[in-house]
Amino acid sequence: MADILPAYIHLEIVTPDHKIAEEEVDEVSIPGREGYLGVLPGHAPLITELQTGPLEYRQNDSRHYVAVHWGFAEVLPDRVIVLAEIAERGEDIDVERAENKRKRVEEYLKSHPESDPETVKARDDLRRAICRLETARQVRA
Ligand code: ATP
Repeated sequence: MADILPAYIHLEIVTPDHKIAEEEVDEVSIPGREGYLGVLPGHAPLITELQTGPLEYRQNDSRHYVAVHWGFAEVLPDRVIVLAEIAERGEDIDVERAENKRKRVEEYLKSHPESDPETVKARDDLRRAICRLETARQVRA
């Protein structure tokens, strides 16, 4: 007998100290290490590392965006569990704070050589700031 396709995906997004979302959704797009991973109900099981980026999920016609920074996602046919080190819902992002951070880090990077150990951290900071701005922009689009 053929397997019955699940109607929804049970999506959970958690950080070490917060539950960001727990919802029944139609579709999830995950910023995976190898690029974006589109997940529909019935997807084959897998685990992927996250990269810093906006995660998107859809419930009927409404789309939601969450900035995720580092961690893992487990995909099962009827469930997606995202364990992110840091995450913010798009609507909770403080755009001014992220914009200030982006400017500060860009200034810092202009005057510090590639070989500076702090530069690696600064590049990560910049990626998170850009991700927050992009996620907030998608919510407000
Ligand atoms: P900042 O220098 O502005 O604190 P940061 O890059 O050092 O930024 P993170 O270390 O990435 O900040 O995150 C620390 C905490 O602050 C996390 O809980 C994160 O969710 C929150 N956070 C950071 N920036 C923002 C923002 N722009 N809007 C909402 N929450 C944020």
